[in-house]
Amino acid sequence: MELLSKSARLEFGDLEFEERDGLLRVFFYRNFFFDVDRGALESIGELAVGRNFLEFGGVHEARARSLFNAVLDRGFASLRHRVTKKPAFYIHRYSGIPLIGSNAFGLVDRNTNIIEVKPLSGCNENCIYCSVDEGLSTSKVADVVVERSYLVDEFRKLAEFKGCETEAYINSQGEPTLYGPLPALIRDLRAVDNVRGVVMNSNGSVLDEEYIDRLAAAGLKRLNLSLNALDERKAKVLAGWGLYDINRIRKVAEYAAARFELLIAPVWVPGFNDEEIPKLVRFALDIGARIGIQNYLFYRKGRNPVKQASWERFYAMLSSLEKEFGVNLTKMELKDEFRIHPTKNLPKPFRKGQVADAEVKCPGRYPDEKVCVSGGRNITVTGCARDRGVVKVRITRTKHNVFDAVAL
Ligand code: SF4
Repeated sequence: MELLSKSARLEFGDLEFEERDGLLRVFFYRNFFFDVDRGALESIGELAVGRNFLEFGGVHEARARSLFNAVLDRGFASLRHRVTKKPAFYIHRYSGIPLIGSNAFGLVDRNTNIIEVKPLSGCNENCIYCSVDEGLSTSKVADVVVERSYLVDEFRKLAEFKGCETEAYINSQGEPTLYGPLPALIRDLRAVDNVRGVVMNSNGSVLDEEYIDRLAAAGLKRLNLSLNALDERKAKVLAGWGLYDINRIRKVAEYAAARFELLIAPVWVPGFNDEEIPKLVRFALDIGARIGIQNYLFYRKGRNPVKQASWERFYAMLSSLEKEFGVNLTKMELKDEFRIHPTKNLPKPFRKGQVADAEVKCPGRYPDEKVCVSGGRNITVTGCARDRGVVKVRITRTKHNVFDAVAL
């Protein structure tokens, strides 16, 4: 008969532990954390802490695991983003929150073969033109992080529904390289049938050679790198962050361009980087990268430092650069080249103006928002005072299966 040893070693792939002043800080997916009182853990058994494991003496493993799971449940309720320091909500397969319905997390299907994947929110930069109001000066009060396997499983269902070749486009409201399991996410998305590639946006500030190698090994097809100026001062001003180091990002870009497709994707912010744009075209050509210049656009909830340039002016600039550098820069050509095409539309369970019952699940990202659920979608509801239960809402937005509503 096998004797049960009375000590338990619990190992974790997604958690890391750090002891500090009577507390155990538990990091989840590298950039989210909560603190646990050490005494609560010592009541389980004699405690030893390792980076990815905990050992409890004097207790069988099954009991230690069950007691520690209860500690985890309480801890996740006070999860915070390590970079933004804001409270964060963990959306997992048992949370009861579907992954379609929000622009801030989960999946967005804009009725093309490109499926947007949003594993987390929150950014370490503070770009002066940020269309989604992320970074240090954001007025949002909470962040979101999504369970990797839940995201992949829901992506697979959506890709199957589309029934055509698709591309996974990691396009967070925030910086995706802050998502600890990003290489594993890319690998899993890449393995879904009919996925012809995984593409992601990044500001590049977290990347280094080792991280780039991991992204390449995971099968990343293309990195869209936002890089808005080569001049040190202008780059810092545009990033809204004094620690922004363009010289480091240049090296990152050169290294990345040799490992996968690299698209340098500057935003032209009139008056801020006019003379930087040609330099960026030259830089992209020199390192063997592509270049895709974007016009700064006004967004109601974004940061808007200048008036948006007209499309005529923008395209005039592109065609002048095309002549100067002999490259294709116009949108239609890029669209064609990247093979974006319309697909079967995902049915929408609501129409604009419809009144529906929705269950309140968690606070939203702005102070007056709640994430509610109805009809297999999550809905961002403003003006909802309730923290739980079912509320009546009027749907105010349905475009691309992103649902906003007001509480009635
Ligand atoms: S890097 Fe992107 S998400 Fe972050 S502040 Fe800049 S524009 Fe916004």
